[in-house]
Parts: sequence; C-alpha cells; structure tokens
Amino acid sequence: MEKKSDFRCVECSFPIKSLYIQYSPGNIRLMKCGNCKKVADEYIECEVMIILIDLILHKPKAYRHLFYNMFTRDILDFEVLIDVVLGNFLFMSVVLIGSAKFLMNTSVGVLECKDTVLTMLVSSYFKIFLIAMMVWEFPSSMIIMIDMFVLSSNTVALKVIANSATIRCFGVCFAAHAVKFFVSEWLRTLHLS
Ligand SMILES: [Zn+2]
Repeated sequence: MEKKSDFRCVECSFPIKSLYIQYSPGNIRLMKCGNCKKVADEYIECEVMIILIDLILHKPKAYRHLFYNMFTRDILDFEVLIDVVLGNFLFMSVVLIGSAKFLMNTSVGVLECKDTVLTMLVSSYFKIFLIAMMVWEFPSSMIIMIDMFVLSSNTVALKVIANSATIRCFGVCFAAHAVKFFVSEWLRTLHLS
C-alpha cells in the first residue's frame, strides 16, 4: 500500500515526504521545500505558545503547520475535524443564545456577539492543552479535569461580560458544554457503527 506524502511546506503548501532528519535525540536538521527552497516547517522547533500566537495572528503558515504537519492524517482524521468544527459551532450558538435570552434579555446583537465570542475564546485558552493531548497520550481523568477548569473559567468570564448571577452564567456555559459533549459522543457512535 503506497502512502501519500503526509506533510506540506508551511510556506507554499508543496507536499514533502519528511520535515526533518534526526541524527540523534535532540539533534535534528530541518528539511527545505523542493518548491520554494525555504525551510519546510520552521514551527517544528518552536514552542507551542509561538504557534498559538501565530494562529491568533491568522498566519496561514501556522494553520498549515497545524492541519498538515502537527496532526498527521493518522491522528486528525476527517471525523475529528467535523467533531471540532460542529462541536465548537454548537457551543458558541448555545452560549450566544443563552446569554442573550437568559442573561442580557436582548436579541443576539453584533456587538455582544463579538464580546461574547472573544470572552469564550480567551477563557477557553486551557483547551490548547486538550489539543496537545490529541498528540501526546494523557489519562482521560486529566481531560475531564481540564474540561471542568474550562467550564469554570467560561462561567467567570461570562459573569464579567454579562454582569449577571454566577448560577445563570454557569447554567448557560454548562448547557453549551453539554450540547458539545453529546454531539461529540453521537458523532463517535456514528463513526464506530
Ligand atoms: Zn515551499
């Protein structure tokens, strides 16, 4: 069975067989792209924080690193991608509608949408560890603990932005997490059957 090149150059998306050669542990040489002649993926040697900052800055090469090189096809298959995109979409929908209906008593306006999305993104920063766990194996109890931490930090963030009671903010965040969880489980059973 022939395996296609899994990796891409982050500069120009040109396929590449391997991103580096390892001579000995910790001693690697980054490969150059056959097309643009630049280092194919400089992020290999970068800290996660630098990649995260470049993702926030909307640098396409950081996204290429994330999708093509960090999660190779074996780890991030299509189902996982659907799970992440759909799960986060539903999560944000529940938070926005819940905040508008139960916390602010208004319709979902553009300004508060922006604020609420930003709040959720900032307070979900711990999720980067969940992403990391897809690459490095961690016990599932750890993932639950981090989910709890994300839930509580979402609640505090929403409380600040909506200026509402903690229990109501917790309710909205909990509903959003629950919807995301059940959709993810449902997708998993679909995938397994
Ligand atoms: Zn290139």
